[in-house]
Amino acid sequence: MRLSQMLFVTLREDPAEAEIPSHKLLLRAGYIRRIGSGIYAYLPLMWRVLQKVSQIVREEMNATGAQECLLPQIQPAELWRDSGRWDTYTKAEGIMFALIDRQNRELGLGPTHEEVITAIAREMIRSYRQLPTHLYQIQTKFRDEIRPRFGLMRGREFIMKDGYSFHTDEESLKKTYQDMDKAYRNMLKRCGLAFRAVEADSGAIGGSGSQEFMILADAGEDEILYTEDGKYSANVEKAISMPTEAQPSPFKVYEKLETPETQTIATLCTVMKCSPTQVVKNVLYQAVYDNGMTVLVLVNIRGDQDVNEVKLQNELEKLAHRYQSKTLMALSVPDADSQNKWASKPLPLGYIAPDLADDYIQSLQDIAPKFLRLVDKTAVPLTNFVTGASENGYHVVGANWGEQFPLPELVVDVRKAMAGDRSLHNPNQTLQSARGIEAGHIFQLGTKYSQAMGATYTSEQGEELPLYMGCYGVGVSRVAQAAVEQSYDQDGIIWPLAIAPYHAIISVPNISDSKQMEVAEKLYQNLNQAGVETLLDDRNERAGVKFKDADLIGIPYRIVTGRSLKEGKVELVERATHQSQEIAIEQVISTLKNSLETALN
Ligand code: ATP
Ligand code: MG
Repeated sequence: MRLSQMLFVTLREDPAEAEIPSHKLLLRAGYIRRIGSGIYAYLPLMWRVLQKVSQIVREEMNATGAQECLLPQIQPAELWRDSGRWDTYTKAEGIMFALIDRQNRELGLGPTHEEVITAIAREMIRSYRQLPTHLYQIQTKFRDEIRPRFGLMRGREFIMKDGYSFHTDEESLKKTYQDMDKAYRNMLKRCGLAFRAVEADSGAIGGSGSQEFMILADAGEDEILYTEDGKYSANVEKAISMPTEAQPSPFKVYEKLETPETQTIATLCTVMKCSPTQVVKNVLYQAVYDNGMTVLVLVNIRGDQDVNEVKLQNELEKLAHRYQSKTLMALSVPDADSQNKWASKPLPLGYIAPDLADDYIQSLQDIAPKFLRLVDKTAVPLTNFVTGASENGYHVVGANWGEQFPLPELVVDVRKAMAGDRSLHNPNQTLQSARGIEAGHIFQLGTKYSQAMGATYTSEQGEELPLYMGCYGVGVSRVAQAAVEQSYDQDGIIWPLAIAPYHAIISVPNISDSKQMEVAEKLYQNLNQAGVETLLDDRNERAGVKFKDADLIGIPYRIVTGRSLKEGKVELVERATHQSQEIAIEQVISTLKNSLETALN
């Protein structure tokens, strides 16, 4: 491609809308344009990158025996009602764009394709002889994200590879899951990315687990906890660990004390000269179930610990049946407005006791009349602890479970693991923290969707059984931007060779110099013919502008047909290192072909 003929516009200044380096650079270098919130145009250079990432993904998927297909983006609501997800996706989470057609039928724009693929399996898979089987597609997904941001990282329209596998049993599912683990590692390695596979939260689906692939970058939205020995790594949402030891309590006698201005654990501990490990903290949440029932949840946890809301959500999901509900719709810390809706009197915020009385809850139709009381494992062994007195400005000390406060029946693990905690597999290993961008997620779904949607097969013994399923997603457009987040400098993007839009760019310092143009044209033809994807910067611009642009768009090799032509040479500059060498014109092709071969194989 000749730059003179390309729609090629670069910006000198950082666009105001962009916060992180990769987003700024992709906009400045003319790879993407924002069309609306979370909606981007992929311009020709970006499209080449996306196609390269897609191709790597495709090759690795095909190598496992998975088959590519293309599923509809417009999905009938009935399928989502069958699986029980229509309301959650269109109302509770509200992540699905829903619409009504001219026949008044409800439709959704596909945020994911479990329903569509399970409907296909329901009709097409009859016998164990057809199993296992695995279909995937590479396609645009639509999600009405609450906070679209960082360009392609969290778009409302983005490209994903999603695959779905079907099996007779768990063992077969596990095998494909392992194959996917390998395939995903290969994909990210081939894209030239540094990443970490981590244990991930499987949410309400349960099953025997899921794994995320995190591209390491400071701008990552996810926190990863891992140990140096490489034996443990998990998303913080899922991570488990041993908390630090609690210090023995200095309070031997139970008493209620006036403790003004001690709403936070930090102020309380300063005033009481105690350790937060001697405090039972009582945290209030508000859960809304799918039948509209609001449940007030009181969690007791050790003072130095925080509640992991993902773990709490999973616990509340398990308790849905207690409220005649199927699923949890929302979890939040009740703000003043929502407290006004249900509280019968002002809550002693900052001073709540573990036995906060149920009469704080007004008797209302859609509000559970009692607090759902959960105690985290860290709070259970505490003795002579400090906690709120359910009276503003007062705490109690020297309290014990079973004496002043009944221990809640529901003992749960909802604590958030933290950097510095001891690891469970080896207490000498402490958890370290890193930030990551979730590039992919692989999942053992089990029979959740097949059961909900009646997708069964006939086993060898003639039994009608639900299909076992797995699903596997990679964010193709997110991966492409994450590559920039991992690889740039003050001059611009540094693409890994495997996914660079072009391998090389020939910059002609002076297009009116016929010798420069002649050599450039020839190299341009021959390099492309030899499979070295090459751009020709034949614009009527100053050399300095061309070099700046070449650096900004991040093409791995720059060839300059400049001064050294006299000696039959051109300058070859490596983008990543800025290292430059003069090489004979005849050697350009073999040199670049060699570099390509070493880097790509
Ligand atoms: P996240 O937690 O980041 O919202 P997710 O758990 O919703 O991701 P999945 O449903 O597992 O993601 O989708 C598979 C992959 O698609 C993710 O690993 C990610 O790479 C990509 N992805 C998800 N949402 C977006 C988005 N809004 N924009 C770009 N890529 C996305
Ligand atoms: Mg999401």
